[in-house]
Amino acid sequence: MALAFDEYGRPFIILREQESKSRLRGLDAQKANISAGTAVARILRTSLGPKGMDKMLQSPDGDITITNDGATILEQMDVDNQIGKLMVELSRSQDYEIGDGTTGVVVMAGALLEQAERLIERGIHPIRVAEGYEIASKIAVDHLQQISHKFEFNPTNIEPLVQTCMTTLSSKIVNRCKRSLAEIAVKAVMAVADLERKDVNLDLIKIEGKVGGKLEDTELIYGILVDKDMSHPQMPKHIEDAKIAILTCPFEPPKPKTKHKVDIDTVEKFQTLREQERKYFDDMVQQCKDVGATLVICQWGFDDEANHLLMHRNLPAVRWVGGVELELIAIATGGRIVPRFQELTAEKLGKAGLVREKSFGTTKDRMLYIEHCANSRAVTIFIRGGNKMMIEETKRSIHDALCVARNLIRNNSIVYGGGAPEISCSIAVEAAADKYPGVEQYAVRAFADALDSVPMALAENSGLQPIETLSAVKSQQIKEKNACCGIDCNDAGTNDMREQNVFETLIGKQQQLLLATQVVKMILKIDDVISPSEY
Ligand code: ADP
Ligand code: MG
Repeated sequence: MALAFDEYGRPFIILREQESKSRLRGLDAQKANISAGTAVARILRTSLGPKGMDKMLQSPDGDITITNDGATILEQMDVDNQIGKLMVELSRSQDYEIGDGTTGVVVMAGALLEQAERLIERGIHPIRVAEGYEIASKIAVDHLQQISHKFEFNPTNIEPLVQTCMTTLSSKIVNRCKRSLAEIAVKAVMAVADLERKDVNLDLIKIEGKVGGKLEDTELIYGILVDKDMSHPQMPKHIEDAKIAILTCPFEPPKPKTKHKVDIDTVEKFQTLREQERKYFDDMVQQCKDVGATLVICQWGFDDEANHLLMHRNLPAVRWVGGVELELIAIATGGRIVPRFQELTAEKLGKAGLVREKSFGTTKDRMLYIEHCANSRAVTIFIRGGNKMMIEETKRSIHDALCVARNLIRNNSIVYGGGAPEISCSIAVEAAADKYPGVEQYAVRAFADALDSVPMALAENSGLQPIETLSAVKSQQIKEKNACCGIDCNDAGTNDMREQNVFETLIGKQQQLLLATQVVKMILKIDDVISPSEY
């Protein structure tokens, strides 16, 4: 690069060595992109399924994450390659839309890319491959609809939902407690679900975690949990039928502005000031008592003087409660957030059947349970576990389970899992391929082969012979016309996923195929990668 000046003295830059640039174009670019995409997919392949491996990821500042969740692995991997980033985005959109199936979608996309590479090497234009994939994905998605089953459940019989959530949890580190965690997740979703509108607001489910105890101690609280304690150790720890004042104003006398000056040079003046301050506190406490509050939850702190007075006047208080928690408490207890003491009225108080403080372990770790709230549609899942990594992974796993339960409430169609839907779609797509006269036919067949790679990965991760297992299951599906035969990952002795109770949501599976096809088409259409430093 050189700087030169034109005849008017304006500077301009001359670029030399244009030919030595390594920018890729055309077929080379497509091949390089494909291999970048498959490289990312290969990392996730070993994490798929109930026997999938976990990954340990270290962040730049040394924090460690152990996870089995595809979206989290890619998120933390800090992928630098442009195409790799598309795969990260792919996993993220599956997470965003469905919540589960984030590993499977990347494995599927990787398999599609591998197949595409072969076709391109045989001289088929990438656009024709993309078109063939589009046709095949439509066939597969329609076929999924055909082999899906309706799942009947009602608030008294939540067993089907629990079973589906258990399938999701079985591939996670927490699968030891999948039964209890699945029940917790389903009960939480049912508590906040609007069954008429078929909608679930997951914001109403709060997930809290605290290191210590056992995973089995994880509990569902019909109410809210706040990581705070009573401001004074001698305040009552157990308040029934609490009337809660939710305040965003501090228990403090107004601060003098900096431009005012307060001269205190005699004892009397100090006494007056002190007396006045005390009166301020007194009035505030009185105001709360007048409207009938039996508990005060305050966004701000208050000093020892106020604290002492609150204890003395028998008005329990909690201080330094965060804004988000405050809103949640207000929603749950049906109270209003009050910004000024003058505005406090009896109608604005929140109501809860029981407020109690519970302590954990040997440390001074206490938490506040606000239960049996007036508006009980907010619940909390409280996770216990041996260490921070475990709790974080449990949170992610429960999130997956919550999403699955929500998806089932929205649309109660399921397909049987364990690779069975992929094998069944593969057979259907393969059969349909012959109908296409053009070269798309090859791409449609390649799509069928790519579908096979999901059950193959499941078998491989479970220590089975991938090709033998797949061909056995495939021929069984064709012979018995049974779309429920999958890979027996847990060595349960049967291939029938109906007997093993392995379910997945229909919309989750469909979304996987659609998203994977979309991204692969996008990658195939890129023939030039231009980065800012290379023009
Ligand atoms: P994802 O992030 O894509 O959900 P998972 O690691 O959860 O990935 O694996 C999901 C796959 O494992 C699905 O194809 C599902 O059908 C399969 N699977 C889950 N549990 C079982 C099981 N008990 N037996 C066989 N396959 C299972
Ligand atoms: Mg899963």
